[in-house]
Order: sequence, then structure tokens, then C-alpha cells
Amino acid sequence: MGIEPLRDGHGRRISDMRLSVTDRCSFRCRYCMPADGMPWLARDELLSFEEIARLVRLFARLGVSDLRLTGGEPLQRRELPRLAGMLAQIEGIEDLSLTTNGLLLERHAEALVASGVKRFNVSIDSLSPERFHQLTRRDALHRVLRGLEVLAQFPQARPIKINVVALRGFTELEVMPFARFARERPFEVRFIEFMPLDGDRTWTPEQVLTGAEIRDAIATEWPLEPLVREPGATARVYRFADGRGRIGFVNPVSEPFCADCNRIRLTADGRLRTCLFSLGETDLRGPLRAGADDADVEDVIRTAVWHKELKHHVNDPGFVRPARSMSAIGG
Ligand code: SAM
Ligand code: SF4
Repeated sequence: MGIEPLRDGHGRRISDMRLSVTDRCSFRCRYCMPADGMPWLARDELLSFEEIARLVRLFARLGVSDLRLTGGEPLQRRELPRLAGMLAQIEGIEDLSLTTNGLLLERHAEALVASGVKRFNVSIDSLSPERFHQLTRRDALHRVLRGLEVLAQFPQARPIKINVVALRGFTELEVMPFARFARERPFEVRFIEFMPLDGDRTWTPEQVLTGAEIRDAIATEWPLEPLVREPGATARVYRFADGRGRIGFVNPVSEPFCADCNRIRLTADGRLRTCLFSLGETDLRGPLRAGADDADVEDVIRTAVWHKELKHHVNDPGFVRPARSMSAIGG
């Protein structure tokens, strides 16, 4: 008899995992981290490559087929391509992808592609060097764009997506340049609504520039046609009506997609989170290091997943933010 796949108590099958490999980052994006004062996890608190591979093997056996490496900045973790190679070989992992700020892509793109990373999301919030610097607190746009060009040379790494966090009062000026970029270059740009996971804890609903507003602004210049949304997909994707490129909108605040969420997260220190906004976490590193066997760890995982939250409460009165911010969770 086959193994019963992971399901939560609301009937959702879990097939997608975000794996954070570090909480460290080379940038300090204003919507994610404070300017300074973020204590890093100690080295021995991080899951080792062997511990990560063991857990991913277990999750894959339970039906997790899509694995995305993230952080913090995942390329800050030493020997990331070696880890990616270990994970790509695990039976059941069909789609290995990476979200990165792109700073080290120029150096590592080739090794990552060779190790089996199939899809890349590169985060870029402005195409103007000054405004990029203002938002990320690092003067690095040129280096990120060079990394993107290196990545684009590998046709097996597709699609390449650009993540843009949409902030009212900042992103309005970026919308048209990014729309043009998506039309002229082989990259799918995706605007992501600002979520209350910033390290400064200053998020307010007023700062969210919604996907619908951005879409309407783009459509005044270039008409858009919606593509069918796959179950579990976070983005609403449109193609430009004249056939030149695509653009997507991830609208977790204005149009939550919790109903068919198939996702869980594992933090760099081995805590399982069943929602970005979970207030509790389940420690997997503890049992692993205490010598638990796979069946014991599987029980812990199944119980945690069974209690996955029905939905987030960002728009509800009394919403309580998680203690960790985005870079420490793994976005
Ligand atoms: N450092 C990598 C990067 O920036 O791509 C990976 C980690 S980062 C936390 C993952 C994604 O989360 C990025 O696309 C980033 O823009 C997004 N993000 C961070 N903080 C966010 C927030 N408060 N609301 C919405 N998206 C956020
Ligand atoms: Fe670092 Fe990514 Fe957060 Fe920016 S969004 S501070 S690059 S983890």
C-alpha cells in the first residue's frame, strides 16, 4: 500500500515546501529587515546539509514534490550549490527552485543550474540604481542585473521570475519600467503585495499597493489577458494582449489564496511553519538531534501539518503578527 500523502485538517494536500537555508542577508530591504540590529542564528543552530537532506527525503516520501530554497539570502550559505545537488537527487523532488536577491548570482548561476536548480526568482524592487539603493540599503543594482544576464544564458533555467514588492509611495514609479522590462526581456515580473512581516514592524494596510491597482495602471498602456490560475499557485498571471511577455500579481493581502494553499515552510533552524503567519512552530531539529527515527519524525510532521491554519488573519481585527520577520522565516 502506498504512503498516505501529507494532508491538513481542512483537506488540503501539502506538496510545496519553502526551505530557508540561512537567516543572514547581504541586503537590508526596508520591507523585510531593520537597518541594523538583527541577531543571526549561531552556526550550530542551523540545520546541517545532512539534516536538511534527511528531512527533505522524509517530506518527499510524504508527497512534497516542489522545493524552493530561500532565506535570508540563500547564496550566503556556503556551498549552496552542493546542497542543491544533494536535494535535486532526492526521489520525489520534481521541482527545485531558488529565490535570491541576485547579488551572488554572477558567481554561482552556472553551478546552481548544473546542480539541478530549475527555476529562479530574483528580487529586484527598482530598475533605478539610486532607488534600488534607497530600498535595499545596498548600492548593488548593476551587480544584480549582471547576475540576471548570466542566468539568462542557461536556457534550462526557465522561467526566470522577478519579484517586486509593491509599496505605496514607492512602487508607483516602478510599475511602467517593470512592465516594459517584462515585455522586452525573457523575465516574468511579479508584483507582491507588502505583508506585515517587516523587521521594523511598521507595516500598515495603507502601505499596500494592491495588485489590482498596478494591473489597471499597466492595462491603460498595454492591455492584459488573464491566464488560468493553477490550483495552489500564488500568482495571478496575465499575458500582454499583443503576445509580448507576461506579468503576475501575488495578492496575499487584497485577494488571499489560503483556500487552496498547499505550502509549508522549514526555517533554517529546523522549525516547521504551516503558514507564513503562524504564531507557533514545530521543532524538527530537536527530535532529529535527539536520535528520533524517521517514523517518529513523520508523526511530528503529520500532526503539525494536520493543524495547518485555515487562513491568515491579516485583514481581521485583532490580527497578531508572528514574532519572526520575513528574513528569519524564509520568504
Ligand atoms: N533574499 C532573497 C530575496 O530577497 O529574494 C530570498 C528571501 S526574501 C525574504 C523572499 C521574498 O520575500 C523576496 O522576493 C522579498 O522581496 C519578499 N519579501 C520580503 N519581505 C516582504 C514583505 N514584508 N512583504 C512581501 N514580500 C516580502
Ligand atoms: Fe535580504 Fe531578501 Fe529580506 Fe531583502 S528581501 S533583506 S534580500 S532576505
